[in-house]
Amino acid sequence: MDFEFDEELQAMRDMARNFAERKIRPTMEEDEKEHRFRREIVEDMARQGFFGCIAPEEYDGNDAGFMGATVMCEEIARVSPSWGLPFNLQMMGMQTVLMNHGTDEQKAAFYPGLVSAKTLGAFAITEPNSGSDVAGMGTTATVTDDGFLLNGTKTWISGIPVADVAVTFAYTDKSKKHRGISAFLIEDMHAEGIEQIAIESKLGLYCAPTGEITFQDAFVPKKNLVGEMGEGFKICMIMLDSTRLSSASRAVGVGQALIEYCVQYANERTQFGQPIGKFQMIQDQIADMYIEHEAAKLLVYRSAWEKDKQWRATGKVFKTTLNTSVAKLYAAEAASHAANLAMKIYGSYGFSTEYPVERYYRDSKTYQVVEGTSNIQKVIIAGFALGYRK
Ligand SMILES: Cc1cc2nc3c(=O)[nH]c(=O)nc-3n(C[C@H](O)[C@H](O)[C@H](O)COP(=O)(O)OP(=O)(O)OC[C@H]3O[C@@H](n4cnc5c(N)ncnc54)[C@H](O)[C@@H]3O)c2cc1C
Repeated sequence: MDFEFDEELQAMRDMARNFAERKIRPTMEEDEKEHRFRREIVEDMARQGFFGCIAPEEYDGNDAGFMGATVMCEEIARVSPSWGLPFNLQMMGMQTVLMNHGTDEQKAAFYPGLVSAKTLGAFAITEPNSGSDVAGMGTTATVTDDGFLLNGTKTWISGIPVADVAVTFAYTDKSKKHRGISAFLIEDMHAEGIEQIAIESKLGLYCAPTGEITFQDAFVPKKNLVGEMGEGFKICMIMLDSTRLSSASRAVGVGQALIEYCVQYANERTQFGQPIGKFQMIQDQIADMYIEHEAAKLLVYRSAWEKDKQWRATGKVFKTTLNTSVAKLYAAEAASHAANLAMKIYGSYGFSTEYPVERYYRDSKTYQVVEGTSNIQKVIIAGFALGYRK
């Protein structure tokens, strides 16, 4: 593995950093206060090619790959974790489902809108009574002559209530347990039988909408079933393998931002006649942040590299679970730990909403929950380590 980015990746990183500074930072503070999502920013991101990294060439794919997506997402999250979300919603979720399991017709129907951000995407798995236990879902899809009728509720879904399209999962045969779940592409999230409601009461990610979806006899045509009936659980797990990488890259962006802020603050803030950075205990905290950030980056890049290797060889990305779970768990915990330490380094100013670290502290908590909690990543990792999973 090459530990240096080539010129192309470096250029992508610079471009994304530049974009974040020019297009996101100027209105960010105000948008955070107003909990404002700006569709035009997602469209602008699309124009930079952010969502074409893993798309086929005929759908404006730019060959940046998982590594390109990772590096660019990291740079955006460094400025605002909220704005890292579209990488997942426009690309890592629905696009990997299309890449691995989509028919030509499905690809033609969904890729253009996702890559250009003319349609906003989402992936809906979680339900009020089913989070970690995906097979515990209650949503059902009843077979009709020409398709399916979906009934149920999904909650804590990123991109709701602004999503135009989605991939979701429902039981077509409850008696078969997880082998009775099927995957569906939703062409119009504003159609009859589908309601999207915002979740306003949340700790962070104020510029990234999160919400609930109710399906009430929502019709999905047969052509929008993904794979075969009963393959939904497998499709969902394979998709999560890629969305996990994306949340891990956002966590790395948060770690980077926190180190930069803390180094600056430790050099500027003086107590007892010297910059606080001269105190050994502050150095200990900065060193911990630094080490964990470096380790997180390498694990995340290894996961992206492994996916790229598969994707470039086969056009698909399947079994990368172990490395992705290791990266996701470690990056999530490192970001959260860095935010915890940053709050201490900033003292009372860490507690102030006038300073940036409290925002990263709040936003960083999501990485320990989304795409499978840290506990769930440990269950997966231990399963491999013990030889129970292959
Ligand atoms: C900001 C945000 C955005 C999100 N976006 C999406 C999205 O786009 N799409 C989507 O489908 N979902 C999304 N989610 C939901 C998220 O994926 C779930 O919250 C997550 O999977 C955990 O489910 P839960 O909250 O129901 O917790 P639970 O599953 O109820 O877990 C509660 C606790 O029990 C622990 N636990 C559960 N099972 C085990 C076990 N077997 N072993 C050890 N510990 C266990 C968990 O680790 C956790 O600590 C989002 C959540 C948030 C907060």
